[in-house]
Amino acid sequence: MGDKKLSINLNRLMQTIDASAKIGSLPKGGIRRLALTDEDKQMRDLFVEWLKQSDLHVRIDDFGNIYGRTKAQNPEAPPILIGSHLDTQPEGGCYDGILGVLSALEVIRTLNDNKIELNRPVEIVSFTNEEGARFAPPIMGSGGLSGIFDKSFIFSRQDKDGKTFEQELKRIGYEGNEKDRLKDIFCYIELHIEQGPVLERENLDIGIVTGIQGMNWLEVKVIGQSDHAGPTPMSMRKDALLTAAKMITDSNRLILEQDNESTITVGCISISPNSINCVPGEVTFSIDIRHPDNQIRKQLMSEIRQRLSTIAIIEQVQIEMKEIWETNSTDFSDELIIHLTEEAKRLGYQYKKMVSGAGHDAKYISDMTDTAMIFVPSVDGKSHCQEEYTKTEYIEKGANLLLNVVQKIATVSNVNI
Ligand SMILES: [Zn+2]
Repeated sequence: MGDKKLSINLNRLMQTIDASAKIGSLPKGGIRRLALTDEDKQMRDLFVEWLKQSDLHVRIDDFGNIYGRTKAQNPEAPPILIGSHLDTQPEGGCYDGILGVLSALEVIRTLNDNKIELNRPVEIVSFTNEEGARFAPPIMGSGGLSGIFDKSFIFSRQDKDGKTFEQELKRIGYEGNEKDRLKDIFCYIELHIEQGPVLERENLDIGIVTGIQGMNWLEVKVIGQSDHAGPTPMSMRKDALLTAAKMITDSNRLILEQDNESTITVGCISISPNSINCVPGEVTFSIDIRHPDNQIRKQLMSEIRQRLSTIAIIEQVQIEMKEIWETNSTDFSDELIIHLTEEAKRLGYQYKKMVSGAGHDAKYISDMTDTAMIFVPSVDGKSHCQEEYTKTEYIEKGANLLLNVVQKIATVSNVNI
């Protein structure tokens, strides 16, 4: 090994990304490729063809997750798993998930080109329905594999037209076998776009991801009194929207004062009766709270609940709060983070360690094996939109880091993970 640095074939990788971008392409350069649609099938067919051309052993499990495994000196040894997902949001970009899968393919192609002798197999994966845009919840294929979701739960999920996951998986011909689920994994490394603005703003090439933030989703209903906008004096109103606005402002202030790692987002709001000349009688809004530290997040959550209750008392309205989702933070493997850091240094890349604000397949796979992620910068922090873009130089560096770490782990028999 020493200072031998392997390099991916950037032209080939960009051609592969371009070929993917044509399947479900949108006018402004993005992609619409929802899980288990015809476009998804077309992408899967092409991907499987690429895997076979790279001399990989292809398997598909009962969730439609696609795997391709290399040969190795110890073919039965648990593989190093690399990949992500190929589905997109309704108006998605060309890189989210896709870059992780296609960089993994490029890593394998480069290992093949250089005739690298592998001690243990490298396995590429594309997980089904990471986005959850057609069938909720998201991160479904990897969640099924790791046992977070039951098969019956996954198969019964419906899209907005009432079609089930099972029907659509069968229709596109990608219901594989339960026995082909990957069970024994040596480690998992997922390359992904950052989806936030930090790396670009700090002029860095690479983010070495140390974990994924935990989050809480709260639904808050404020019940005031709906009245006529004219005859009801200001002093006699119980305006649910005005109270909700105070609640939103107050909880944002609390989070801002906490630290620069916590976030709060109010992304949904509904007003009743939602009429120009009615005092709003009832407002329902969502709160999304995230923090890398579970204890701090839970504290923030209970503090916010208290504050909202206090505001409701002061404003003389009723409040109902319902916790609709909670997930704890995920810590990635210290050893993998060390390997990634060493290789990033050796390759001369500017990097930082960071926590992911978004969920990824790596979250659920980390329940099965040692896991880590590589982030590459997103221009203007944009993702889940057609403008999503990662510069070619960053794609090259991210894929090269993945390649060199995989080569290190796959060729050394006594590697420490
Ligand atoms: Zn993704």
